[in-house]
Amino acid sequence: MADKITAVKGMNDIAPPTSAHWEWLEDRLRALMQRYGYRNLRTPVVEPTALFIRGLGEVTDIVEKEMYSFEDRLNGEQLTLRPENTAGVVRAVAEANLLYDGGKRLYYMGPMFRHERPQRGRYRQFHQFGAEALGFAGPDVDAELIVMACDLWRDLGLKGIELQLNSLGQPEERLAHRKALIAYLEARFDQLDEDARRRLHTNPLRILDTKNPSLQTLVEAAPRLMDYLGDVSLAHFKRLRELLDAQGVGYSINPRLVRGMDYYNLSVFEFVTTELGSQGTVCAGGRYDGLFAQLGAKPAPAVGWALGMERILELLKEQGRLPVAPVPDVYAVVPDAGALVQAMPVLQALRSRGVAVQMHAAGPDGTMGSMKSQFKKADASGARHALIFGADELSRGQVALKPLRGERADVDTVPAQRLVALADVDQWAVSLCHP
Ligand code: ATP
Ligand code: MG
Repeated sequence: MADKITAVKGMNDIAPPTSAHWEWLEDRLRALMQRYGYRNLRTPVVEPTALFIRGLGEVTDIVEKEMYSFEDRLNGEQLTLRPENTAGVVRAVAEANLLYDGGKRLYYMGPMFRHERPQRGRYRQFHQFGAEALGFAGPDVDAELIVMACDLWRDLGLKGIELQLNSLGQPEERLAHRKALIAYLEARFDQLDEDARRRLHTNPLRILDTKNPSLQTLVEAAPRLMDYLGDVSLAHFKRLRELLDAQGVGYSINPRLVRGMDYYNLSVFEFVTTELGSQGTVCAGGRYDGLFAQLGAKPAPAVGWALGMERILELLKEQGRLPVAPVPDVYAVVPDAGALVQAMPVLQALRSRGVAVQMHAAGPDGTMGSMKSQFKKADASGARHALIFGADELSRGQVALKPLRGERADVDTVPAQRLVALADVDQWAVSLCHP
């Protein structure tokens, strides 16, 4: 036998019943976007590599070590599977000049690719849902995005997600801080790890974002960017906090929060839980007013966030908030294959009236199998009713309707089966849909 082909490491299939949880979450997210006036934008999974190098910054984890990049086999173009989608959104918005008549509120969802070490909450293909408000400069939109995420936690019934806030100021302000930070880190060079030493002169701010636990104390005592911000940046941050306070949104200020990409300025934030081990950030974002210009487009302010769908689903599971899997209303039991010609049109009539119907299918020999095995399948399907297409009943224009589940799980409370007339399909379709 040939070797089995398996999925790529860190990339997962999503099969039933889990896929139903995904669809449910996607529905909730779409409804949330509808409530806030955000519209869907779909961009390609493959983008020019330069988009991410220029957009995210050369000295970032993603660009240095996590991208899936390859060469187009015909024209040699450098391409990359998107590791995130903010840069793609900005590219698409600029390319189609979507801001010609004012700001746009957009959302996306889909797979992202990063070559990381797979573990709980960290995969090589993972899924993000993101919301981006482009063309708006004020802290009101930053507040709207944060409130929208809080609304989602409430809607999903999630507890214990904490908001951390920081302001990165503007590039000029970061320059002054950078000098102080480099001096501080140089004085402690022997304590730095390999990554930090390498980044000391290229991107020292990124060192504050380290995941290395042994660097935490050093990082905590480092010069704070917040102390280098000018009046305009501070006013933006103050206004954001006022707007959050006014809406009862709790947060803590984390001066070490710098985020993993270079494109951020002013407000940055993360929603964090302690319930998912070390992969505790479920949603993260901030303002990126410089990104349009950095990508060679007409400058425009922007702010957004992205959430990790796997981590949200994991947290929903942890907190017992996943929905029950959808079940059919009716399972069609067909004792003899000969009755299929009469049964199938009835099933279609039911479906056209909104009833969810699962039909028992014939085996490899063309027979339908014993009644016992058919009822076993009916039960396993979770259907509330079985519809039995017996030859005798059909000849009298009737089918048997058998409830499979009582008021309580107790079998004795399940009512007995009754005969219904095919002519009355309209009537019983209604009662099947709305038990
Ligand atoms: P982390 O610090 O956990 O590596 P990040 O800062 O790299 O996250 P972002 O690029 O801001 O993450 O992406 C936003 C969200 O996407 C994260 O908060 C997280 O929920 C999710 N995410 C990021 N990388 C992965 C991954 N490899 N697998 C699953 N989810 C991820
Ligand atoms: Mg990361």
